[in-house]
Amino acid sequence: RVIVGKKVEEGHVNWVTAYNMLTGIRFTVSRTNAKMDRELTDADFDQKQKMSFDVTGSEQTPGAKYDFKFKDYSPWVFRHLRGIFGLDPADYLMSLTSKYILSELGSPGKSGSFFYFSRDYKYIIKTIHHAEHKLLRRILRDYYAHAKNNPNTLISQFYGLHRVKIAYGRKIHFVVMNNLFPPHRDIHQTFDLKGSTVGRDLNETALEKNPRATLKDLNWLRRDMHLEFDQRLRQTFIEQLQRDVALLQRLEIMDYSLLVGIHDLGKGNDDNVREKTLQVFQPGGEREEEDLPGHLMRTPSRLESAKKARELRQTLKSQKPVPMGLSSARMPEHLGAEDQRHNRIFYGDDGGIRATHEDGKAGETIYYLGVIDCLTHYGFVKRMEHFWKGLSNNRHQISPIPPHAYGERFLNFMTGITMTKEEAERRAQQEGQQ
Ligand code: ATP
Ligand code: CA
Ligand code: CA
Repeated sequence: RVIVGKKVEEGHVNWVTAYNMLTGIRFTVSRTNAKMDRELTDADFDQKQKMSFDVTGSEQTPGAKYDFKFKDYSPWVFRHLRGIFGLDPADYLMSLTSKYILSELGSPGKSGSFFYFSRDYKYIIKTIHHAEHKLLRRILRDYYAHAKNNPNTLISQFYGLHRVKIAYGRKIHFVVMNNLFPPHRDIHQTFDLKGSTVGRDLNETALEKNPRATLKDLNWLRRDMHLEFDQRLRQTFIEQLQRDVALLQRLEIMDYSLLVGIHDLGKGNDDNVREKTLQVFQPGGEREEEDLPGHLMRTPSRLESAKKARELRQTLKSQKPVPMGLSSARMPEHLGAEDQRHNRIFYGDDGGIRATHEDGKAGETIYYLGVIDCLTHYGFVKRMEHFWKGLSNNRHQISPIPPHAYGERFLNFMTGITMTKEEAERRAQQEGQQ
């Protein structure tokens, strides 16, 4: 929510694209959800399905506002992944599609990807490059197994992979994933950490213009910060990162970072900031009472959410089987399951994790953590980059180093950030003596 987004409304350059993305998601997700749950088969991982939407609609697809083509990848795998990550299916649909409200965060990285937030800020749609898309398809089996076996994984949670084809046949690939940051709390500081020190510094004067700019490795080190975790938590954190990084190394992935959002309970929330940054996407111009920004500002209570989810479930139930659905269509087993995120160590405190002092007392900080941007394969481009950058910099400090070394350096740094400066120095000394 502290992220300054631009509202995507009629007339916005990406309005039609955003609208089509959501229409496609709504249709494909509700179609899969309406079927009886079943075990995954190997073929589910390779499955893909094309469909076209137009104003009149057809046997297969309902009428839409615009003509566009949509492709859905591995719908059953993602349905199961959403289950593993504890999402409520009705809730997911409601967040992404019940009202066409999105906000766009231009392109925050160098990659040219666009980020869109669902209206409740729970989900992010990120447009990805074709190479990233191909990678996700290729690693989906491993990713799925990892998610299943690691309830505390810190790696980005992917909920869907789709493609929309718009005017002039331009294809846009995108993923739906978790927004690591909470809709209802200000993030006072954000760090994007890779474990590299070359080029990993945000000019501190830039902070004056934008106090909430994303900081990097050198900014972290300069502040002598550390994640306040007690022994047990620290160990869990490091062990989980080791498992996560081992997967990424094996898949030859690199360039990922640990995103750290810090909420200071002492500072609390600043409603002015919230007001300024909240953006609404409003189609068709009809504005309902509850869509007024003032109401949106307020996070729906659990009770309200539960009520809405129940209503939506009722509507889904009373609907005729969706086109191509089975006549025996019934609610999937886990529909209506509680939000299971509180079972996850790092996301259990309303999406984050509370700092803990050594003595076990709770700290004044909530951390929001996750490993993001994990779809870059160490391929040809990276190899070239490594070569060229290596000519002018220390080969091991620059970020495009091979995946294994990247992972080791990443783990080293992340282990370091769980320690106070004194501890880290003591450890370095001990290691030096051995
Ligand atoms: P590049 O490849 O240049 O690093 P990118 O376009 O691939 O950029 P990311 O690195 O994925 O972008 O993300 C850029 C920024 O967007 C992050 O530093 C973070 O501030 C924000 N961001 C990305 N993913 C998430 C997420 N899941 N939750 C919250 N914020 C996110
Ligand atoms: Ca990145
Ligand atoms: Ca990237």
